[in-house]
Amino acid sequence: MPRTPSRRTVLRGLTVTGAAVAAFDTASRSWAATAAESETASSASATSTTLAKVPRLDGTLLTDASSLTAAADDYGHIVHRRPAAVLRPGSVRDVVAMVRFCNDHRLPVAPRGQGHSPFGQAQAEDGLVIETAPLSGIGSVNTASRTVTVGAGAKWSAVARATLAQGLTPPVFTDYLELSVGGTLSVGGLGGQAHRVGAQVDNVTELQVVTGAGELVRCSPSRRADLFRAVLAGLGQCAVIVEATLRLVPAPTTVRRYQLTYGDLATFLDDQRVLVREGRFDYVEGQVHADAAGTFGVHVLEAVAYGPPVGPAPDDAALLRGLRHDPATVQIADQPYYDFLDRLAPVIAAMKEAGIWGFAHPWLNLMLPGASAAALGAQVLNGLTPADVGPGAVILFYPLLRDRLTTPLLRTSDDEMSYLFDILSAAAPDDTTAVDRLLAVNRSAYDTVAAAGGTHYPVGSIPLTPADWQAHFGPAWAGLQSAKCTYDPRGILVPGQGIFD
Ligand SMILES: Cc1cc2nc3c(=O)[nH]c(=O)nc-3n(C[C@H](O)[C@H](O)[C@H](O)COP(=O)(O)OP(=O)(O)OC[C@H]3O[C@@H](n4cnc5c(N)ncnc54)[C@H](O)[C@@H]3O)c2cc1C
Repeated sequence: MPRTPSRRTVLRGLTVTGAAVAAFDTASRSWAATAAESETASSASATSTTLAKVPRLDGTLLTDASSLTAAADDYGHIVHRRPAAVLRPGSVRDVVAMVRFCNDHRLPVAPRGQGHSPFGQAQAEDGLVIETAPLSGIGSVNTASRTVTVGAGAKWSAVARATLAQGLTPPVFTDYLELSVGGTLSVGGLGGQAHRVGAQVDNVTELQVVTGAGELVRCSPSRRADLFRAVLAGLGQCAVIVEATLRLVPAPTTVRRYQLTYGDLATFLDDQRVLVREGRFDYVEGQVHADAAGTFGVHVLEAVAYGPPVGPAPDDAALLRGLRHDPATVQIADQPYYDFLDRLAPVIAAMKEAGIWGFAHPWLNLMLPGASAAALGAQVLNGLTPADVGPGAVILFYPLLRDRLTTPLLRTSDDEMSYLFDILSAAAPDDTTAVDRLLAVNRSAYDTVAAAGGTHYPVGSIPLTPADWQAHFGPAWAGLQSAKCTYDPRGILVPGQGIFD
């Protein structure tokens, strides 16, 4: 996909601090960093009344080339939209001030956590990218209410370490811990525990947000509930999350991890279904790997039982009873809980070492209806070879129970059970042919799955239209649309998702 050039003029090489006088010329749509530059911009402009002063900030407003280039890229390296400025906030007040400013001047705004979106979701062409990383404070763990309040920029690894010090833990984690709290709460936050405890968005008790109109608001299931519902898994459309209060549960000290291998997809999925329905394990996921023949013929079910103090010592025979895996390949290992949560760290270090981490990532993330998951998964996989999905690609397959996922904007199929099916592809960043081919595969797979009653999990790279999004949100669309009108009336927030025209 070609780089999209910036349409507006932006002063280059400036770092605008709170001490500087800075302005935005609403006629030329350009920024000025000092009073002198403001004068110059003003006299160069058609009218002298078009300069709007940028608010005083505790943090920094960056307009230098390297900051803008970094904000025009993400983990996908596929879409590049250059913002006009990047806010590194020194306080929540800065977020409020700059969102208000952008709302006044109809400038697009996108919060950016760790920028691990793969398809431009956290980019804002000619607008403002707000880095949330400086808002990464972690409050003291409230052991009575079993909650912790954290800044939106906190990473889940830091949240886990802070809460484990008190013997508590968020109940569900993404597989990779170096994602921001605000970033995963904007999409859902799924992991192998979700079949029991719901997604990360189902385990939030309160949020503090800045709406698109620049209002700082606390919301929860009982206070401004419409806003709370519109923000969780709301893809940043109505407000910027600045703080979240997360539910905690007692943590195990060690876990027992089982890896079971299957020769065929249908049996693998059926056994996952049994485990999830019975709630036999605390965590269930699965991966599909290539076999020696070069087809996706190896299916590895991964199940984890939490040990004391939250569960009994795991009983292998009872936990594996009746499963139809290949008994010769069973792997069982005990692990400290945090090491289990952080199990991807060495894998990602190796990918960085091998240079694969910086590849393009045209990811496909689908929610398959439980009843037709095996047929749909096979149809998509049969059209692909291991070479197509690239080096280090991962194929994930695991079930989720609909009644545990209570957040309206986190969409699944209507079946009692949906399977998350991810093809996490990689391609050399300059291999645009491979990237375009995989994007076309993604779109075609999405069409097949949507026609069968499934949908997508919005963390991937599927070219979608606003009409697709409307269909995706289904009965939740009206609520999102109404909240968008109320809380982001000028439609400035997170255009990179492509949801609203
Ligand atoms: C290696 C890897 C592993 C992953 N594993 C999982 C997994 O196991 N489970 C899972 O569910 N997902 C997983 N993901 C996907 C990931 O959860 C999402 O892409 C998530 O949005 C990334 O978080 P981030 O902090 O990088 O967000 P960003 O990419 O920075 O932002 C994501 C979106 O949310 C918006 N946003 C960011 N912060 C805020 C905020 N504070 N308020 C409002 N909107 C905001 C952005 O504008 C953007 O639209 C994985 C991604 C990677 C790269």
